[in-house]
Amino acid sequence: MDTAELKNKARRHLGPHFTRGDQWRGGDMPVFVRGEGCHLFDSDGHRFLDGLSGLFCVNLGHSRSDIVSAATKQMDLLPYSTNWGSAHPPAIETASLIAELAPGDLNTTFFVNSGSEAVESALKFVRQYHHSRGQPERTKIISREMAYHGTTMGALSVTGIPKIRQPFEPLLNTVRHIPNTLGVSGDCGPASQLDCIRRIEQVIAEEGPESIAAIFAEPVQNGRGALVPPDGYWQQLRRICDEHGILLVSDEVICSFGRLGSWFGSARYGATPDLVTFAKGSTSGYAPLGGVVVREPLVEQLFDAGSRGGFTHGATWGGHPAATAVAAATINAMREESVLANVESRTTHLRSGLDDLQRTHRCVKEVRGTGFFYAIELMADRGTGRELTDEQSRRVLREVLPQAFQRTGVVLRGDDRGATMLMVSPPLIADNDVLNALLRGIDGMLTDMEHAIPA
Ligand code: PLP
Repeated sequence: MDTAELKNKARRHLGPHFTRGDQWRGGDMPVFVRGEGCHLFDSDGHRFLDGLSGLFCVNLGHSRSDIVSAATKQMDLLPYSTNWGSAHPPAIETASLIAELAPGDLNTTFFVNSGSEAVESALKFVRQYHHSRGQPERTKIISREMAYHGTTMGALSVTGIPKIRQPFEPLLNTVRHIPNTLGVSGDCGPASQLDCIRRIEQVIAEEGPESIAAIFAEPVQNGRGALVPPDGYWQQLRRICDEHGILLVSDEVICSFGRLGSWFGSARYGATPDLVTFAKGSTSGYAPLGGVVVREPLVEQLFDAGSRGGFTHGATWGGHPAATAVAAATINAMREESVLANVESRTTHLRSGLDDLQRTHRCVKEVRGTGFFYAIELMADRGTGRELTDEQSRRVLREVLPQAFQRTGVVLRGDDRGATMLMVSPPLIADNDVLNALLRGIDGMLTDMEHAIPA
């Protein structure tokens, strides 16, 4: 099929995700046909640097034959077996590897197929856990404003982005959204005194501590642009949860498997959560997999709860043999190739390159992030403090950036959730040459934006 035919058929038959009607009607969505390392190739043969690792997931880069062969070997041997009342070697191996890498006694993994399902599973686990302890009234969830936790109805209820919740209201009415950490990072004085912490305590007091099941938070929040927590924030979340018998869920769908330079993002911030959700990087995007890792005593409590003990939850594809074989191969490759060390040693180079771009471009308001996970918040002119108008923001996101991706040969993601932003999340195997090409591409995008938007 040539490009025109591919695009025509996509327009007519393929239901696109989170795609605006005008973009769909325009029928000119890029079609990618091949990947190689940190690069993608479109149907016209153009090569692009994949600056977002697909969607924050292709951490080891594209088209690695070792990962592909782990999947095919498993499919030859046993293409399908379930984790309902039985087990199979790749799921056992991957769960064991995760137990080894996860902090504290986070030792048991329930596999599912996506990040949304992982969040859904965590929601259900915390409810049933409290039930098993004679506290069925603990049903309410606290999560943060502008945080994205997925699209299924439970996960969407935890999500705090009004624009994507609104068409489906009323969602679960048991979720309270509290302020995120925008504007507070680094050393901001005692974390217990921060507004974003005090508001959690206020909500708990309003709702009644005995009614709260869990607090959900990402180590670094993606929605609203790579919000790095202030010092002591996660210890405060842990303290609050411990004081009130609430479970702490770290949603690490993006922030695990090396994106921040560690296996699990929460470990960087000095608090061990009760549950960790993961997905994306666990298979480097080579197969759909998600999961929730749970502290062992919680699992024992739930499964020991009388004759009805056990987790009333499951999915046909949960822990699929091919997907878990791919996850084991991903983890082993990350270890053998010191991928975390690559992120740790190059994060300063990436960060200082982005900071340089902020200095030289008036349209950069702020750079936030850590590891290989950054947001560039955009404005019209930093010198005068002029923000983009709604019309300018639309133009930047719908015209200027997509054209700049084509022109520069670097694919990133524009984001309009709460501000106009450019998200940066390269494959974790990127070396300085790749990072320099990425920075040159971003430089070009910011230049295009400044040509389009007057100072
Ligand atoms: N949670 C977080 C923190 C995410 O970033 C995402 C997706 O980006 C999800 C959950 C949902 O994951 P999925 O798209 O695999 O359902």
